[in-house]
Amino acid sequence: MANSDPNCLFCKIVSGDIPADIVYRNEHVLAFRDINPAAPQHLLIIPLKHIASLNDLVGDEDTIIAGQIMQAAKVVAKEAGIGESGYRLVFNTGPDSLQSVFHIHGHLIGGERMGWPPF
Ligand code: IMP
Repeated sequence: MANSDPNCLFCKIVSGDIPADIVYRNEHVLAFRDINPAAPQHLLIIPLKHIASLNDLVGDEDTIIAGQIMQAAKVVAKEAGIGESGYRLVFNTGPDSLQSVFHIHGHLIGGERMGWPPF
């Protein structure tokens, strides 16, 4: 599969064709502020490689990418000042979740006391 989809919004953020408020980048993932924040801290963590959703993770390479997103979440949360107070990492997947951008992304949200269940 190609590493990038020319029609994907988040691939265009990876390439720099669409601007974003980028807070973290390494050789595997990118993190940027959600344009419509749902919490005081709301970052999106994405792989540089185009993968549409959790349902499209295939094989060992994608398993490693999933882990790289989680490793980055820990770093990004700390840099955002919510590493200790707490945060959620949410992967909306499929229609019932209201996933709207089909490039896998973890919503890293925090900065206030949250409720549970989340809906
Ligand atoms: P989803 O609904 O789980 O797919 O989340 C997509 C998220 O992307 C939403 O929270 C949007 O606010 C966010 N979003 C959409 N376009 C942009 C953008 O250009 N920059 C940053 N965030 C975006």
